[in-house]
Amino acid sequence: MPRPSAHTPSSCRVVVVGAGIGGLTTAALLARRGYQVLVLDQAIVPGGCASTFKRRGFTFDVGATQVAGLEPGGIHHRIFAELEIDLPEATPCDPACAVYLPGETDAIQVWRDPQRWQQERQRQFPGSEPFWQLLATLFRHSWQFQSRDPVLPPRNLWDVWQTVHAVRPGTLLTLPHTFSTVGQVLRWYGLGDDRRLKTFLDLQLKLYSQVSAEETALLYAATALGVSQEPQGLYHLQGSMQVLSDRLVAALTRDGGTLLMRHTVEQIDTTNGKATAVRIRNQKTGEVWTEPADHVVANVTAQNLVQLVGTPSSTGHPLTGYQRRVDKLPPASGAFVVYLGVDQSAVPANCPPHLQFLYDYNGPIGENNSLFVSVSHPGDGRAPEGKATIIASSFTDTALWWQNDDYSVLKQHYTQEAIARLSAVFNLTDETMIHVEAATPRTFAHFTGREQGSVGGIGQRVATFGPFGFANRTPVQHLWLVGDSTHPGEGTAGVSYSAWTVVRQIEANP
Ligand SMILES: Cc1cc2nc3c(=O)[nH]c(=O)nc-3n(C[C@H](O)[C@H](O)[C@H](O)COP(=O)(O)OP(=O)(O)OC[C@H]3O[C@@H](n4cnc5c(N)ncnc54)[C@H](O)[C@@H]3O)c2cc1C
Repeated sequence: MPRPSAHTPSSCRVVVVGAGIGGLTTAALLARRGYQVLVLDQAIVPGGCASTFKRRGFTFDVGATQVAGLEPGGIHHRIFAELEIDLPEATPCDPACAVYLPGETDAIQVWRDPQRWQQERQRQFPGSEPFWQLLATLFRHSWQFQSRDPVLPPRNLWDVWQTVHAVRPGTLLTLPHTFSTVGQVLRWYGLGDDRRLKTFLDLQLKLYSQVSAEETALLYAATALGVSQEPQGLYHLQGSMQVLSDRLVAALTRDGGTLLMRHTVEQIDTTNGKATAVRIRNQKTGEVWTEPADHVVANVTAQNLVQLVGTPSSTGHPLTGYQRRVDKLPPASGAFVVYLGVDQSAVPANCPPHLQFLYDYNGPIGENNSLFVSVSHPGDGRAPEGKATIIASSFTDTALWWQNDDYSVLKQHYTQEAIARLSAVFNLTDETMIHVEAATPRTFAHFTGREQGSVGGIGQRVATFGPFGFANRTPVQHLWLVGDSTHPGEGTAGVSYSAWTVVRQIEANP
């Protein structure tokens, strides 16, 4: 990573809308490089989908529970090194996940050690090794390409140059696969009818790409599936996920930036196709004012961005085509999450940190037919001694939660169903369950401001991933989009790459 070009204070004012990991990372890096940075967030605590809340001595991670990119060369590692702040203490997840297919009691263990994972998948999915070898090759070249900081999708000559500069002969090997999906490649290898393999891939990919194996872009899948093994890996943070945001906030304020929580940005003003200011409401006092800006960085979804800029009234408006594209996106997924504070006796011995269950081969992955479960371990800072947290999430249709007249009945029904499902593995009784709480798309809409409470960004289909996705550079000059609607997609590591790109683009575009 190049060293910051200047540490001297700049007169350039940047307003960042949103203190999720994407917004905070952008803000901290810009402050480090001497920009005047103001961050505004409508919530009570920073971190967005990667924040936490406390109840009765328990600390619950709101959304994200595992982190990629902490290893040397990983994106969090690179950014924390530039900010000269310590990386959070973390333990590698091994296995990264234990996946239970319908009716099976032995899990498919996604081991961290590549050889052990190879043996496991050969045992679980006989005949599939050529498919995995292709994924491994694509992952290696895609990972190296991404580490050289391409700008995807490129929107001007500078972006094109950054991308071309990142290409090596190995990158060219990935090009023929740019338009392939996982489903297609499974069929090429004669694995299209392998129900267990397909279902395993559906479950794992839905977590990262929002869509099934059939639809997920192959190159995206290679990265999402390859990142769990050494020398990369998924990590469990000591304390809670909040430590990531707290360190970024510390770096931001140390370098002269300002973070105002409970401040909502109601509008982004543009003049002659350029972002010039934001209208802010202080939720505590009701005060409203307009803050001028040389650059505005929006750490929001693409849908929210269009709303903040306002509906273009004329056909010549720079956002007209953009809005049309946003309107045509397939509905984004929501999450239903149950947070349990339990006695440690509820958790089986040697429970892996992450488990994934599918309950029925015939139902869709969602609406309580699958659960992704994260379990705290003793001493990790999330529960008092002798206690533990269990967080279980499932995919859900956001519309269901907004159209339903009996919202609280539906929420109660989903909560009970999730607890009943979990009881097959955990000892959940009135005595062992100390705290029960649930979040729905309405909850996420309230606490993260995300349109309809959708989470996880834009599905990584061929038409919307990498070179065909939403760019950080918007059609409005000096207005930048950062976060999980942009390349390389969801996750704290993904949005940190997004932030890193925006910072470089702003520096190149004074
Ligand atoms: C249930 C669940 C589980 C997940 N698990 C994982 C995981 O294990 N690992 C992983 O890496 N990722 C996981 N993710 C995904 C990950 O959490 C997100 O992709 C990532 O945190 C998104 O970061 P972001 O910066 O793009 O936006 P957000 O986290 O959405 O942050 C945006 C911020 O902007 C603020 N905001 C929005 N609009 C305004 C406005 N108008 N004015 C002021 N402020 C505003 C919000 O309050 C929020 O703080 C999970 C997500 C969910 C929901």
